[in-house]
Amino acid sequence: MGDPRRRVPRTDALLADPRLAKAAERLGRTLVKTVIADAQQRARAGEIAPEQVADHAVAALPVSAATLRPVINATGVVVHTNLGRAPLSRAALDAVHTASGATDVEFDLATGRRARRGRGALAALAQAVPSAGGVHVVNNNAAALLLTAMTLAPGKEIVVSRGELIEIGDGFRLPELMASAGARIREVGTTNRTHLRDYTDAIGPDTGFVLKVHPSNYLVSGFTAAVPINELARLDAPLVVDIGSGLLTPHPVMPDEPDATTALRDGADLVTASGDKLLGGPQAGLLFGTAEVIERLRRHPAARALRVDKLTLAALEATVVGPPTPVAQALDADVDGLRERARRLAAQLPQADAVDCVAAVGGGGAPGVELPSAAISLPETYAAPLRVGTPSVVGRIEDGRCLLDLRTVAPDDDDALLEAVRACSS
Ligand SMILES: *Cc1c(COP(=O)(O)O)cnc(C)c1O
Repeated sequence: MGDPRRRVPRTDALLADPRLAKAAERLGRTLVKTVIADAQQRARAGEIAPEQVADHAVAALPVSAATLRPVINATGVVVHTNLGRAPLSRAALDAVHTASGATDVEFDLATGRRARRGRGALAALAQAVPSAGGVHVVNNNAAALLLTAMTLAPGKEIVVSRGELIEIGDGFRLPELMASAGARIREVGTTNRTHLRDYTDAIGPDTGFVLKVHPSNYLVSGFTAAVPINELARLDAPLVVDIGSGLLTPHPVMPDEPDATTALRDGADLVTASGDKLLGGPQAGLLFGTAEVIERLRRHPAARALRVDKLTLAALEATVVGPPTPVAQALDADVDGLRERARRLAAQLPQADAVDCVAAVGGGGAPGVELPSAAISLPETYAAPLRVGTPSVVGRIEDGRCLLDLRTVAPDDDDALLEAVRACSS
């Protein structure tokens, strides 16, 4: 009987295992060797038998060559910023796949000449928002605001209500973002009330534009006043409206959530929005406006630094013209259907109940809107193992229970959810 540590298989021998050899083709040799080294180390430490090294390495192989892991969002927050905001639709994924090789993103196949980059996505957005004279797409909404400030207000003032000076997350504040573009922020009104005359008093030769920001991640309630778009539009300055969430037209579930079509119709010169919130697409910044303003933005030298890649353009176009996105399906899901799913799933699990609960839009959208929902309720001790399982499931803790809210889980993921919970209860 030799020292079992001497019987730990060598790396060459393990790489010759057909399963690991195949994985090396898919994931790269370096990554597979790291996984092998971990398994060998465990054998040397006596945690596993030398004969098990290959099997353990195979079991530990990651799904893809990137460290990002798939997560089932059972939080009940439809657009969850920490979970990558909007999940892409099947149509968007297919479009990304198609565009991932060489593609005619900036080329006219008929003439063999250079063509306008992303014209398909731009045409789709223009068709979805007919009141826009022009459309432009950048990296995200923050980039859209940055480009707007650089183009319309260099060395000038951006007039904005004190009630709309927002922090969008991770310590980033919109006023500071725009000031970094060389504009000055001219605050008007008070936190809870701003009137038309506050704007009128502030507007002058130094004004670059008036900015109206949708308070997307909080509510100012009580004794409040804000000036609507159609009144701001009559002021003697360009009006930029940051609607945040990316709704192109009004949504019945969220009557207070602004949309691009209405904002333009009410007189905004430019509307900015995110692509990966309520629109349900990839991260992008959408700019809708008059043809003249959009052309100026497009021609700004910095526009090149903020442009999006072909994968984003592909996903965006497919999101706009394609079938309802996962975000739309989550928002529109009928609560009786959710309850039915919760009952069916809970009945197949030990320690689980089906309960009613309340989901939220999240991701900087419709802060006051409560979405009636249904969940699988489990003991709180499930939460941690569910998070680190495969697939990973993230629920929410409420009153000492771990709730898996089904409004944000695609029905196609029900079986995977069931398996993940079962794996934690055994
Ligand atoms: C989310 C949000 C932003 C930031 O958008 P990103 O696409 O994350 O850059 C800006 N303004 C408002 C009103 C928002 O809701």
